[in-house]
Amino acid sequence: MTESFETLAIHAGQEADPATGAVVPPIYQVSTYKQDGVGGLRGGYEYSRSANPTRTALEENLAALEGGRRGLAFASGLAAEDCLLRTALVPGDHVVIPDDAYGGTFRLFAKVAERWGVEWSVADTSDPAAVGAALRDRTKLVWVETPSNPLLGITDIAAVARIAHGAGARLVVDNTFASPYLQQPLALGADVVVHSTTKYMGGHSDVVGGALVVGDPELGEELAFHQNSMGAVAGPFDAWLVLRGVKTLAVRMDRHCANASRVAQLLEAHSQVTEVFYPGLAGHPGHEVAAKQMRAFGGMVSFRVAGGEDAAVAVCDRARLFTLGESLGGVESLIEHPGRMTHASAAGSALEVPDDLVRLSVGIESQEDLLADLTQALG
Ligand SMILES: *Cc1c(COP(=O)(O)O)cnc(C)c1O
Repeated sequence: MTESFETLAIHAGQEADPATGAVVPPIYQVSTYKQDGVGGLRGGYEYSRSANPTRTALEENLAALEGGRRGLAFASGLAAEDCLLRTALVPGDHVVIPDDAYGGTFRLFAKVAERWGVEWSVADTSDPAAVGAALRDRTKLVWVETPSNPLLGITDIAAVARIAHGAGARLVVDNTFASPYLQQPLALGADVVVHSTTKYMGGHSDVVGGALVVGDPELGEELAFHQNSMGAVAGPFDAWLVLRGVKTLAVRMDRHCANASRVAQLLEAHSQVTEVFYPGLAGHPGHEVAAKQMRAFGGMVSFRVAGGEDAAVAVCDRARLFTLGESLGGVESLIEHPGRMTHASAAGSALEVPDDLVRLSVGIESQEDLLADLTQALG
């Protein structure tokens, strides 16, 4: 069978249903399974927290798309992150996190994991030397987001993998912004890929989900043990929605990238915009690394508005086709003010974002309509 991404997205883990021939994995909306005599499991399934056929289809699909050996699907991206923390860390261990991490990831370390004795510090992961300087004796994980949220910073995955491994730490890459269609961290040396499948993988703003994918089957087993022990699994319908979304990931992503690139050009030339963050722009500090490790530059664009916070909020309020809302990665375009919305929990910390920043999730609507809306919103 062809191993190209587009083919795997549609077929990996999704053979026709053996019972009926259904070409799409059915939604196995079931909690328990009849046993043929005590312990006689028909398909290996006994209880749907431990495993469910629809979730298995998604988990196998995700592993194939990331080029990993084991995929695990969770109730949300943060549930996936939490499972990883509690599998990989014990009190006293240390984690390096990026200085522009997703707000919820930052909150998980600062407000939850810290109470359980996990130590963390932030580093500018776009500078491999800064990651090296942040390592401690008990650093077990180096956590990276590339492109990062909301400033679209780029981290050289292969370079940071070498530094982490040199210190006996594992490299975790949050691949939510890129998706495996644009970037495959495991092939670049990462140990764990994290996803909020809520975003590009689901792609239609109709499901909340998360995933982990690993190359090491032993680590995969440990994670599966914790996934079952803690229980924040993806339900069958949610797993099915993500599987359905993934089938069109490649074609959606091509359009997201094309539209975002035009949006970034428009913003760069606009007099009301003081700075544009998009790795596809030649002037972006991570452009060369992004060009090396990504197929294209993604659908997220952030920018700063002349006139400060009030002006940035006004742009968000005036947008019409760009819907004012949190989240990202759906077919519809979204606009938001990170300082007051997605990243409000990072206020006053090293991860605070500029108050004149606006973030766009550029959807797959008509390019002309999107550009016209932004032009009118900028005034
Ligand atoms: C949304 C997001 C998460 C958290 O995922 P949820 O599905 O909302 O729990 C983690 N990382 C990034 C980069 C995100 O955008």
